[in-house]
Amino acid sequence: MKFVLYLNSNFIMKKLISLLLLVLTLSAYAQIDRVEPAFWWVGMKNPQLQLLIHGTEICNRKVEIAYPGIKILKTNRACSPNYLFVTLELDSKTIKAGKFDIQLTQPDKPTLTVNYELKNRRKDSRKREGFSSSDVVYLLMPDRFANGDTTNDNVASQPDKLNRQNPSGRHGGDLMGIMEHLDYIKELGATAIWSTPLLENNYSRGTYHGYAISDYYKIDPRFGSNDDYINFVTASHQKGLKIIMDMVSNHCGIWAWWMSDLPFEDWIHQWPTYTQTNFKFNTINDIHAANIDKKQFTDGWFDRMMPDMNQQNPYFWTYFIQNSIWWIENADLDGIRMDTYPFNDREAMAKWAKAITDEYPHFNIVGEISLENSQEIAAWQKDAVSPIKSNSNLPSVMDFILQRDLLKCFNEHGKPWENTGMNRLYNTIVNDYLYPNINDLLIFAENHDTQRFNYQTKGSLAKYKMAMSLLMTTRGIPQIYYGSEIGMTGDKDKGDGDIRRDFPGGWAGDSINAFTEKGRTPMQNEYYDFTAKLLNWRKNKTVIHTGLLTHYVPENDVYVYFRYNDTEKIMVVINNNETDQTIKTDHFAESLENVTTGTDVMTGKTFDLKSELTIPKQTALILELH
Ligand code: CA
Repeated sequence: MKFVLYLNSNFIMKKLISLLLLVLTLSAYAQIDRVEPAFWWVGMKNPQLQLLIHGTEICNRKVEIAYPGIKILKTNRACSPNYLFVTLELDSKTIKAGKFDIQLTQPDKPTLTVNYELKNRRKDSRKREGFSSSDVVYLLMPDRFANGDTTNDNVASQPDKLNRQNPSGRHGGDLMGIMEHLDYIKELGATAIWSTPLLENNYSRGTYHGYAISDYYKIDPRFGSNDDYINFVTASHQKGLKIIMDMVSNHCGIWAWWMSDLPFEDWIHQWPTYTQTNFKFNTINDIHAANIDKKQFTDGWFDRMMPDMNQQNPYFWTYFIQNSIWWIENADLDGIRMDTYPFNDREAMAKWAKAITDEYPHFNIVGEISLENSQEIAAWQKDAVSPIKSNSNLPSVMDFILQRDLLKCFNEHGKPWENTGMNRLYNTIVNDYLYPNINDLLIFAENHDTQRFNYQTKGSLAKYKMAMSLLMTTRGIPQIYYGSEIGMTGDKDKGDGDIRRDFPGGWAGDSINAFTEKGRTPMQNEYYDFTAKLLNWRKNKTVIHTGLLTHYVPENDVYVYFRYNDTEKIMVVINNNETDQTIKTDHFAESLENVTTGTDVMTGKTFDLKSELTIPKQTALILELH
């Protein structure tokens, strides 16, 4: 069995020793150490279930199941003798939830038995509503948010130990920490939580971010258990908060459990020497692209620590699709955020997204598609016209273009002929015709991979307020990044650890507790109060969630747009100047339609709109029109 490791000799020696120990252990005790998924459900739309069974030299065994409604369609060997892939068909008419034995027999050898369970699905599981433009998503990194359980800070099985002094070390945050602050998130006005990955990352360093997964069916013990995760989702739902799970299909971690015994050589992409992806996203849609460039983009490794998984291996891809569905059904999820989306095989991802939305028609999935222009991002959204003719089936994409605009536009002053200042926002929104569904764009000023907004604007509260006003009133699904709402800052150029600092108050002994009004500094309260008021106002504003949008060419760096439906109309005016600006309101007559006053949502102040409107410097007005 060939497996190329592009690592140093010390690492290889360690792996060889652990592999040798594994072989010695397994040969002494023939056993089954994994069946994945560990359980499943009756009543799924797709009647087939693929079981991955892993155990010492089980490949020649016959699989037997005696349970009404189950038929074994096929049993496949892998390249490694320690795997069997068993495909079952569950007869929807006759099958009932229950437990049964799976027996693996072989002449002259003791029979191996696995107890398996088919459960009943959650009530109305299929009807679940995903997150949408009626939500505001709160993105957090669990290791950096709050440490609710210090007993899990160091876990014997995990080599990367607690080190709060190291910006790339584990800081101890966990599921209990998030659980303890659900009220904080709720009162802020967010309605959904996207946590960066919580699954096990068993490498020796830099694991806190969670994107090098070693076990796709197990919550990292430093965050909690699988049961803790389910309890976290249940508690969040009770508070009206939806949960979006961050998933990674492009790569696993170098110490993923299967890396010492790959089922197939092509379970991951292997190259003669270590080959990194070229990070050239646009090769996928490029009609002129060379095949080698396309191949290196999708099949090259993201990092030496992150083997590139092969979505074209049908056993792997069924495994992964089932894994996603298992988490949705088991943990009762409301959405998925899929990492490094274009780095995956496009056709496989289309199949994955379809399999999920076939099973959950109202579910939402957002793909991380960090491309350079709106055309290329839009080409990944479901039903888009793209050079690749097939449908991606992906409901939501991320508006990285607006994000880059927001980091720049408030530090510039737009001349009419330049793409600067408010013209950036206008010019990006102009491209909305490219998106099949503009309400399903995740919009944000920053996330865990970008520069911190408050750093970029040198801690300007005024600029923060303008950016938040834009995000909470334009089209799409707003996402905010933990800590921004209290003015948290951090410099990406100093490393990712700096934009992922610990939330103040999340650790016992923190000098500031920004989770409470009393604990926050006066400045933190100014950030928080503005954010909470704006987000809570947005919660029930259908006109913002799904209303139409008309915008006007910015004049003198003032951007004006309207959101409207049959019953409501909102006028948003953003003045990006360091001086007050007065605009003539007759220019907006087609939108104002004889409305003469508007009340600012944030200050409660009513403005006369009959002839002129004066907007204070560096201010956004959100006017409810009467
Ligand atoms: Ca902890």
